[in-house]
Amino acid sequence: MIDARHVLIDLLTDSGTSAMSSNQWAGIMQETNRTRKQQLLSFRTGSKRYHRYAFYYTYAPGAGIRENTFQHIGGKGKFFVSNTLFDTTRANIEFSGATGVDLLCEEGKHPAIPAPFKGNLDTVALEQFINKTGSENIPAVILTITNNSGGGQPVSMQNIREVKAICKANCIPFYIDACRFAENAYFIKLREEGYQNSSIEDIAREMFSYADGATMSAKKMHLPI
Ligand SMILES: *Cc1c(COP(=O)(O)O)cnc(C)c1O
Repeated sequence: MIDARHVLIDLLTDSGTSAMSSNQWAGIMQETNRTRKQQLLSFRTGSKRYHRYAFYYTYAPGAGIRENTFQHIGGKGKFFVSNTLFDTTRANIEFSGATGVDLLCEEGKHPAIPAPFKGNLDTVALEQFINKTGSENIPAVILTITNNSGGGQPVSMQNIREVKAICKANCIPFYIDACRFAENAYFIKLREEGYQNSSIEDIAREMFSYADGATMSAKKMHLPI
């Protein structure tokens, strides 16, 4: 509720805090001379390298997309299930009156245990939660990749596939919080069997192909890959 100009240092977000490449700075200069429609088109063309979603919405700042989306489909009595909701995503969900539910896999809760994909969602717990709560009360399942609030731990392709299958069987929309998707794709290449020879782009495309939609902050870590 505080006016943005009164916030001198934002300790909540890591958006817009990383160094930008010369290509990114040049991109800003080039886009400045274009109309908003041209800007949107070039954003869409770039995005289509990774996914084929039918609609694109751009907001400044990025948090606005979650504000609009989750507050629109949320509300009292609704539950959003996730591996771990990013704090500002959770804030928008809770502001609508809905409840955020984190169902992180067990190994993700123990920092000392080494495991390749500690950001995975506990799919057994997800099925139990859906049975208990009723799919009509769950507007969306949101997989955060990588699981930023959980130490930036990655989610495996197998887990993404399993979450998709459960959502599909229960008619629940499946969203990806994609702020750090490139890093997640890299970890899949590094650690998941069968992906060593795939390109990061192909892995990203497969990840997005399972979801009904995605939100992301474009000020994150999307250095040209
Ligand atoms: C950074 C980030 C966001 C967006 O955060 P803002 O508060 O909009 O800057 C959302 N989800 C994840 C997983 C993030 O890493």
